[in-house]
Amino acid sequence: MKQSPQDKNLDRMLRSGKLTAGGFFGADSRSVDEVIAEDAATLIKLGYRVAQVAARMQELRDLARPALGNWVRVNDTLQVKSEDYKGMIGCPWPHSGQFGKRITAAQRLDTGQSASWSDLNIHLIEEHGFFEGRGAFFRIEPEELIRVIF
Ligand SMILES: [Zn+2]
Repeated sequence: MKQSPQDKNLDRMLRSGKLTAGGFFGADSRSVDEVIAEDAATLIKLGYRVAQVAARMQELRDLARPALGNWVRVNDTLQVKSEDYKGMIGCPWPHSGQFGKRITAAQRLDTGQSASWSDLNIHLIEEHGFFEGRGAFFRIEPEELIRVIF
């Protein structure tokens, strides 16, 4: 896929280890656009929209937050917890946006499957359709996430 110079800069920024441990790509050699396009295709195949996934992640985060790191029962098959860490992290796209280092975890009580995400993940998915590269610390596999949160 051909990339504009601006995309190349974005690529470089996203791959930088300065932003998060391991950056946003891990060992993924695909371009930003390719990562986004493949995950978008996966979502379509599964019958979900990006906005819907991001909204559910946000909803679960908000349910978990008041319990300050303790598990909260969402329903018979799902529990969530959310923990805050010191500091802020910025979105690597060229716009202003700082996010608290909050990690939300969701666990299925029926299958034992779990998923976790940061507030920045929610933003990256909602605004940029970006689930991060394979091998990145906060890479989210759309298929696994959907299996847990819906
Ligand atoms: Zn952004």
